[in-house]
Amino acid sequence: MLTLFEHGSHKNILWHDLGGGEMVQANQHVIIDGEDSIILDPGGHKIYSQLFGDVSTHLPPGGIRYIFLSHQDPDIVAAINGWLMVSEATAFASSLWMRFIPHFGVDELVVERLKPIPDEGMSLPFGAGHLKFVPAPFLHSAGNFHVYDPASKILYTGDLGASIGAETMMVEDFDAHVPSMKGFHQRYMPSNAILRRFVQTARALDIECIAPQHGAIFKGRELVGALLDWLETLEAGVDLMPDGPFAIPG
Ligand code: FE
Repeated sequence: MLTLFEHGSHKNILWHDLGGGEMVQANQHVIIDGEDSIILDPGGHKIYSQLFGDVSTHLPPGGIRYIFLSHQDPDIVAAINGWLMVSEATAFASSLWMRFIPHFGVDELVVERLKPIPDEGMSLPFGAGHLKFVPAPFLHSAGNFHVYDPASKILYTGDLGASIGAETMMVEDFDAHVPSMKGFHQRYMPSNAILRRFVQTARALDIECIAPQHGAIFKGRELVGALLDWLETLEAGVDLMPDGPFAIPG
C-alpha cells in the first residue's frame, strides 16, 4: 500500500502489489474524505477478497460509498458484483457500458446501483469538495473517464500513462521510464489526435500527480509535464498502421 496524499481528513492511497501470475499488474486507488470514500477500478476476482479486506480497514464506518469504473475492461470491472453485494456503494461507469457490464454477472438486487456517467462527464460531491469525472473518450475505450481530485491535485488516468514492468512504483527518471510505456500506448491508444485532446484538457487542470491504473505514478509537476509533452507528440494506433485494407490471412 502507498499513500499518495494526506491532508486533514483527505487521503489518497493505492494498492499496487495484489495479483500476480498471468494478470497484468494493476493499481487499485482509494480516495477518502471524512465520511466519503471511493475505489477506482477495483479489478477482478482474484484480488477481490484481499483488496476488500485491506480497503475496509481504512474506511469510515459504513464502508465504501462509491465505485468508479474508468471503462469496461475485465481488470477493472470483473469483480463489480462482489463489491456491490458486500456494500451499499453506488458504482459509476460510462453510459455506453450500462448494458454490457451486467454480463460480468451483476445481480438483479444490485444492478440499480450501477449508474451511467454521461458523455460530458460529471462532478460528484465528495467530502468537503467534489471529484470530477473528466471525459477521456477513446483513451483507450470508447466510453472512458478520468478522475480529477482537486483536493490532492491528482489526475487518475486509467490506462493512459500506464506502464508494464516498471521497476519502481514512483517514476524517477522520465526518459528511462519511456520504454515501459511506449509499446502499450502505441498499440492500445487510438491516435495522436485524441492524445492531443487529452493533453489540452490536462493542461487546463492544476495537476501535481498523474496516477494510472497500471505501473508507476508521476508525482511532481516536472514529471507530469514530461508525460504530457511525451503524449502530445506520440504517434499511436491508426497513425502507425499501413494504409489500405487489412491483409486477409491466407
Ligand atoms: Fe483497459
